Amino acid sequence: MIATTLKTTKSQEIFAAAQKLMPGGVSSPVRAFKSVGGKPIVFSRVKDAYIWDVDGNQYIDYVGTWGPAICGHANAEVNEALRKALENGTSFGAPCELENVLAKMAIDAVPSIEMVRFVNSGTEACMSVLRLMRAFTNRDKIVKFEGCYHGHADMFLVKAGSGVATLGLPDSPGVPKSTTANTLTAPYNDLEAVKALFAENPDQIAGVILEPVVGNSGFIAPDAGFLEGLRLITQENGALLVFDEVMTGFRIAYGGAQEKFGIKPDLTTLGKIIGGGLPVGAYGGRKDIMSMVAPAGPMYQAGTLSGNPLAMTAGIKTLELLQKSGTYDRLNQITKKLIDGLLEIAKETGNEACGGHISAMFGLFLTKGPVHNFEDAKKSDTSKFGRFHRGMLERGIYLAPSQFEAGFTSLAHTEEDIDKTLAAAKEVMATLK
Ligand SMILES: *Cc1c(COP(=O)(O)O)cnc(C)c1O
Repeated sequence: MIATTLKTTKSQEIFAAAQKLMPGGVSSPVRAFKSVGGKPIVFSRVKDAYIWDVDGNQYIDYVGTWGPAICGHANAEVNEALRKALENGTSFGAPCELENVLAKMAIDAVPSIEMVRFVNSGTEACMSVLRLMRAFTNRDKIVKFEGCYHGHADMFLVKAGSGVATLGLPDSPGVPKSTTANTLTAPYNDLEAVKALFAENPDQIAGVILEPVVGNSGFIAPDAGFLEGLRLITQENGALLVFDEVMTGFRIAYGGAQEKFGIKPDLTTLGKIIGGGLPVGAYGGRKDIMSMVAPAGPMYQAGTLSGNPLAMTAGIKTLELLQKSGTYDRLNQITKKLIDGLLEIAKETGNEACGGHISAMFGLFLTKGPVHNFEDAKKSDTSKFGRFHRGMLERGIYLAPSQFEAGFTSLAHTEEDIDKTLAAAKEVMATLK
């Protein structure tokens, strides 16, 4: 870790107090900066592409609250809609017409979605969709990929890689072996491994769930033919294909990865952007499958705050803004400028790097690559990444505090923001070798 020149006295005070009050001082682990070293920054305000910390420092933000802030933080139109919605109350615990509006928008946007159920987080969407996969197929096993994240429900907490993965042993204490015994794992982009799992477990696999573009091992795109192959294998085996588009939905295209790649899964999970910065998740898909969900069908799933008018309003307004023409061209152009610039600077300064982007989702690995799966991603120089992260922070650039997270741009990022970011990267990369 390099010595910090950033004034963070107040951040450190607050974080020290937080550590006595909450485990690790945070409400979600990555925020603690453990994988980049140094102390986390405590924020007080966000607006457009910027965040301000409690010591008054301003940063250009490439986390965007992990994706939802695609229209820019505290967007004026979203805020105005929220203020109006607030007058009518925050939660009814009963049907509300705004649910119809957002449901229709999700159905119109996402090719595979014919019916949808709202929940309160991506985790909830994924655990519910897993129950539905099992209920519909009457099979218990599922296939997930190493390095893919589907929230923190027990069944998905299976360690990536090594012999532990193949045994389906849990990744965290507190998760019983019996809970993950039915979770089979394969390396991302490895169709042969998936075929082998189906051959070894005939008529037992309910389905395959994946991030159609990975963001939770860093940014990893699917190889040509991978998504098509999974569509075919699942169909041939009477299993379901589920795209976890909590991150990619409304980000890499308005209709998500399934629109971008033209592959229709049976079920889809959504989160992040669909809540416009408020807690929302959703799962949806084929009508015959969704009809299993209670009270239409026997598969139980419920939520006190699900579909609340405040969250629905933030989602609706955000999607309306994204529907404007030119949105995704703009996101694509700005993100390309950023990642192309970063890769060029890495090359000039003699730092091994690889990376890429699709629309407004990007990633930079400090390894020569190429990266096709989590094993490849782990070859990155994480200690160097920690120094890169800190150097950028000191120059007013806030990147995700881990090598294994994707980065996000928004409609609020300007050419000037990208230029400033690249100028900072040039200085920092020169010090890294
Ligand atoms: C963020 C994320 C989740 C979990 O969503 P939470 O709202 O954090 O519970 C699940 N799947 C993917 C692909 C994600 O990126």
